[in-house]
Amino acid sequence: MARPGAPKLGRNDPCYCGSGRKYKDCHLRQEEEWRSQQLRLRNAQDNVLQRLLNLATEADPVDLRTAFDRYWNGRYQFEQLAELNEREGYGADRFMVWFAFDYRQADGHTLVTRLAANLDQSDLGDLERQLLPTWVDVRLRPYRVERLRPNAGANLRDLLTGDLVILADSHASLRLELDEVIVGHLVPVDTPIGSSQPNYYLAGPAAHLTPDTAEPLRTFADVHLEAFRRDHPDAGWLDLLRDRSEIWSHFILILPTDKPDPERLQRYIAETRQQLLGA
Ligand SMILES: [Zn+2]
Repeated sequence: MARPGAPKLGRNDPCYCGSGRKYKDCHLRQEEEWRSQQLRLRNAQDNVLQRLLNLATEADPVDLRTAFDRYWNGRYQFEQLAELNEREGYGADRFMVWFAFDYRQADGHTLVTRLAANLDQSDLGDLERQLLPTWVDVRLRPYRVERLRPNAGANLRDLLTGDLVILADSHASLRLELDEVIVGHLVPVDTPIGSSQPNYYLAGPAAHLTPDTAEPLRTFADVHLEAFRRDHPDAGWLDLLRDRSEIWSHFILILPTDKPDPERLQRYIAETRQQLLGA
């Protein structure tokens, strides 16, 4: 429970809510409980993610290879997986998280949906069991960093829907820069008292892109959705992402690593348009 901008209250001061009771006997207790609940949820989030990554490591090698080729679009060979954290900014870790959340195996399940469907047989704790079903629609997505909140997180803007997303992950937000674009998996973890919107945390590392990529990325997304709607007229962003969220990885692979090259990006988008839409 945040009281933004409020002066710090002493334990024996009257509570800010006007109840007439001392702060320590009123809202301080609620706030402490909320903080420890946050901590427990944060731990549960780590546990669930670790479980998913273990499952990913033990997955059928054929699935892993197929997923690898889709994600890296022919740029790397599966044998190079171990090098990719160095060469592609946590590329190996980003791929494994994508595999767990986004890659659908032959039965149509992702690792997340499979684990969520078999909670009875898992030894996950109560908080972990609460979290997991809320993660089944989490996919790799692009966001713009709209506001940094020191020691508290950041406000992100979903580049596809325009929705505001509250990142409560103060640790991850230390690595963010204002206006940059991040491409990652944001998982809902807890809902603050008095809010209808959950807080989000980053599951695994994100790719960090410069602010000038926001607009071309949005155009690139529109081209893909338009093409997808030729076969699925009523499709929305989530339908597209369930089918092919690896397109963000392909976009990232085109970006120059040294100096900006807007023409190269424009060319890539024109090629994508030509390929998908024939125009
Ligand atoms: Zn109070």
